[in-house]
Amino acid sequence: MFITIEGGEGSGKTTLIASLTEKLKQAGREAMITREPGGIPIAEAIRSVLLSRENTAMDARTEALLYAAARRQHLAEKVIPALERGTTVICDRFVDSSLAYQGYARGLGIEEVAEINRFATDGWEPDLTLYLDMDPEAGLARISANGSREVNRLDVESLAFHRRVREGYQLVAARSPERIVTIDAMHPADAVAKEAWEIVAAKLS
Ligand code: C5P
Ligand code: MG
Repeated sequence: MFITIEGGEGSGKTTLIASLTEKLKQAGREAMITREPGGIPIAEAIRSVLLSRENTAMDARTEALLYAAARRQHLAEKVIPALERGTTVICDRFVDSSLAYQGYARGLGIEEVAEINRFATDGWEPDLTLYLDMDPEAGLARISANGSREVNRLDVESLAFHRRVREGYQLVAARSPERIVTIDAMHPADAVAKEAWEIVAAKLS
């Protein structure tokens, strides 16, 4: 089973993934955690180009193509082989991030970005996506309280940008209600983890 976790800055994806992985192991399931962009050396190299604060000249289409390229390599080299072995894969971000960030927030168009991602994923789709919906102001406040987070090129974006990311995610979630489940990430982390586990467990059985 292929599970993806989506959400804006500070929505608690990393914390949730740690708890889901623990619960899957307790349930006797082999689970692999990975993240985008990255997860393998070629895609981590693309990640550092994408996120470097020096790359202020990056064009929005270049950005969308690089995310799709990193996604393709990560899928081909790591995710598909794991799924084919029967491992449950939990991935921090996937195509829906590109639709929300590049398609909607950057204004390239959700359908245009979906198109290049159809080429990149060649038919592979998550079985389940948990979208952690959160007020961006609260998410950004969480991040600044958490000093361990890496600095990146998006740190210069305005609150308005992050509000568009949220709107983009909400539009994308509304388009795929059978795959994407929205969780209110303003709730405490243990409540989010409990709700998420109930959804995953129902899908497993
Ligand atoms: O998931 P994580 O917070 O590590 O993502 C790294 C950065 O990449 C974040 O600032 C995120 O907003 C950004 N990003 C993006 N477009 C994507 C995926 C991630 O701008 N499609
Ligand atoms: Mg994270």
